[in-house]
Amino acid sequence: MEIITVELLDRQYTITIGDGAWDQALACAEMYDKVFLITDENVAGLYGSQFSYPQYVMTPGEEGKTMETALAILDEMVRHSLTRNSLVLALGGGVVGDVAGFCGSVYMRGIDYVQIPTTLLAQVDSSIGGKTGVNTVYGKNLIGTFHQPQGVYIDPAVLNTLPKKEVVNGLGEVIKYGIIGDPDFFEYLKNHLHELLELKPQVVFDVLCQCCSIKAQIVAEDEKDQGERKILNFGHTIGHALEAVTEYKGYTHGEAVLIGMLYEARLANALGLLPGYGYEEIREVLETFDLNWSIQHLPEEAIFHVMMQDKKNCDGQISFILPIQPGQVQEMLLTPEQMRRWWRRIVS
Ligand code: ADP
Ligand code: ZN
Repeated sequence: MEIITVELLDRQYTITIGDGAWDQALACAEMYDKVFLITDENVAGLYGSQFSYPQYVMTPGEEGKTMETALAILDEMVRHSLTRNSLVLALGGGVVGDVAGFCGSVYMRGIDYVQIPTTLLAQVDSSIGGKTGVNTVYGKNLIGTFHQPQGVYIDPAVLNTLPKKEVVNGLGEVIKYGIIGDPDFFEYLKNHLHELLELKPQVVFDVLCQCCSIKAQIVAEDEKDQGERKILNFGHTIGHALEAVTEYKGYTHGEAVLIGMLYEARLANALGLLPGYGYEEIREVLETFDLNWSIQHLPEEAIFHVMMQDKKNCDGQISFILPIQPGQVQEMLLTPEQMRRWWRRIVS
């Protein structure tokens, strides 16, 4: 069992990874007057019986990540007479975690919640750091709060029931940590990618520990996403644009990030920030995944339009997090004109 601490400004919490982590979550729940579980139908079917609390079971998928769902959950929380000393348990993937965290953050102006992530994406990324939210018809996560959990409890074994596509979805973020955070971890990923795809337990455990500790460190340095946390955006400037112009139907988030990382690495190389051999190393790892890497067919102006709307932009310039070697990144701002010029070179 591995325990990683996330240091916040006013307190700390732990991420517990390993066999038996869920028992720890149950022990933590004992400290509250009432516990309310939020999950989705798939996860409830597989793991719900391990928790005997009143619960709200969401319809699976991103479509359920709405204010309507949040309001229905909040009504149930009122109906079960949850108090300020009650706990919300979020059992599921990123969708459940984001909605449950949001409900926890607004119920009676905020009560405690705990994350029990069951997808790879949620285990390495969305369950850590306190970002909560729901989508609106105008975009993703437009309504949300910062509300850090009391703890994150990760049982790696639950990944064995995850569909392959969801594993790849999470691996996008895993590879991202290798490129932004640590050259040794990048090297490790390069050498163990096939075992990781097969979910070999020791490799999965090592990877979860590495990713969570990189994320914990970045969150500690920038709790409210005002600076350092930007580096988590590697692959996402282009990735988000690919998702948006295909109306979130063309790619999973992880696939879009994998493709986004390839083109952002190419951009870094074209700009002279990333040497050719560094680019080749990154390309080789990314191309282990069997994806449609070509993005030439996608509407260029629509892609630029999305990139220009990005929250991370500054003074009308587009923010890119670019690798300077595998394991190290830096921010680069490009004007829309510069972007247009480089785009042709990198996509062809
Ligand atoms: P993400 O974590 O990628 O944001 P979701 O929360 O939408 O995504 O979860 C992706 C899908 O995987 C959902 O249909 C969810 O019900 C399902 N799921 C979550 N955890 C597991 C698991 N351990 N085994 C099987 N399916 C799961
Ligand atoms: Zn992401």
